[in-house]
Amino acid sequence: MDIRFDHAAILTVDGEDRELSDATLCVKDGRIAYIGGAEGAPQDYSPGRTIDAKGNLLMPGFVNAHTHLPMTLFRGYANDLNLQDWLFGNIIPLEDKLTAEDVYLGAMVGAAEMLLSGTTCFLDMYDFADTIAVAVEKSGLRAVLCQGMAGDGGNMQKIAKAKEICQRFQGAAQGRITTMISPHAEYTCSEEFLLACRDAAQELGVGVHVHASETAKEVRECMERHDGLSPIRYFDKLGLITDKTVLAHCVAIDSGDLETLAARGAHVAHNPGSNMKLASGFAPVPALLRGGINVALGTDGASSNNNLDMWEEMALCALMHKGFSGDPKAIPAKKALRMATIDGARALGLEDETGSLEVGKKADLILVDTQGPWYYPRGEMVNHVVYAGHSADVKMTMVEGRILMEDGRIPHVDMPALLDEFNRAALALRAR
Ligand SMILES: [Zn+2]
Repeated sequence: MDIRFDHAAILTVDGEDRELSDATLCVKDGRIAYIGGAEGAPQDYSPGRTIDAKGNLLMPGFVNAHTHLPMTLFRGYANDLNLQDWLFGNIIPLEDKLTAEDVYLGAMVGAAEMLLSGTTCFLDMYDFADTIAVAVEKSGLRAVLCQGMAGDGGNMQKIAKAKEICQRFQGAAQGRITTMISPHAEYTCSEEFLLACRDAAQELGVGVHVHASETAKEVRECMERHDGLSPIRYFDKLGLITDKTVLAHCVAIDSGDLETLAARGAHVAHNPGSNMKLASGFAPVPALLRGGINVALGTDGASSNNNLDMWEEMALCALMHKGFSGDPKAIPAKKALRMATIDGARALGLEDETGSLEVGKKADLILVDTQGPWYYPRGEMVNHVVYAGHSADVKMTMVEGRILMEDGRIPHVDMPALLDEFNRAALALRAR
C-alpha cells in the first residue's frame, strides 16, 4: 500500500543532512517518491493511506552493523565478566547446545526488539544463518546474513556450508537479504581456515565480516603467534581486508592498523556498549574518522550489551568519545546519527538502497513521536534525537514501504505467545 505522510519533521541524513519541518513524504511501490513541501507533492499519486504526522519526525531506520541476533537467548546470562571469561567460560559452552528451534525463537525476539526500537537493517554473524533467514523473512527486516564460523583445516565443511548458505540466500526475501562470509576472529580460526574464507568470499563476490582487535590481549597473543603482526595486519597479509570487509570492534589498534584499514577502504563496526560492558576498552573512533575510514555502529549481541537498541549506541558513541578524548567535537550529533544509519548502509554495501531518506531509495524509515518534553524547545531536531531521544519514542517502523510495527504492535507476530515460547526455550537451554 502506498503511504503519504503530511506535516512531518524530517531528518533526511542525505549528503547535506537536511532537516525539514511541516513536510510531506510519499512512499510509492516501496520506495520514497517525494520529499518536500505539500504543494510540490506529485499530483498523479493516490496513496492507500495518508498519515497526519504533525508532532512526529521521520528519519531513516537504524542500520545495526554488528550483531548476533539469536543471542537474545543469553540476555542477562554471564554478566560483569571480561570478553575471554564471558565467551569461553560461559557463552560457547551453551552455544554448543543450541538447536535450530532455539535460534529461530532467539532471532524472532531479536527481530521484534529491532522493529520496536526503530532498526530496519542489520549485519548478523551467527551459526544457523539459514534459520535466521527465516526470521528475517517473517519479520520483514532487511539483513546481511553471515554463517559465523570458527575452525582449522579439519573444519572445511563449515566453509562449504557457509558458501551454500550465501548462494541460497543472496537476494532472498524479495531482495532484502544479502550475505557475507564470516570467520569469527583470528583467535578462533587457523590460517588455512582464514585463507579458505578469503577464497570463498572472492569466489562469491561477497564481503567479509570478522571480529578484529577487540582487546589488547587478543592483539598481544596474535603478535606472538604471527611474527609480530596485529590481527589487522595479519588479516591484510592473508588478503582478507578489502573495501567489502567489515571489521567489528577495532578497539586495540595502532597507527599502522589504521593506515592499513584506510588503504584498503575497509569498514569498522563500532560497538560502544559491548566494548564497555566487556571492559574491552575504547575504540579510537575519532582517529579512524580522521583517517577517512567508514565507521558504522552496532550493538553486538544482546548478551554483551544487553539490548539491541541503536538509540543507546548512538548516544553512547557521541558521549563516550567526548569524555575519553576531552574534545567536545569528537563525534558531533549529526555524525553519530550518520554512523547509526547511512554509514552502516555503506559498510553493508547497501548505501544506494537504504540508510537515508532520499527520493528513489527504499522506504526504510521510522516515525518518531516527538511530543515528549525531551523534544522541546523545537530547534535542530538532530540534537534532541541523539542526546535526548529514546527507542520508546518510535511510533512506526517501515521497511520497503511496509509497516512492520505501529504503536508498539507488530501485526504479523503474536508477541505474548512468542515471548512465552522463547522464555521456556532460553531457560531450558541454560539448564541443558
Ligand atoms: Zn560480535
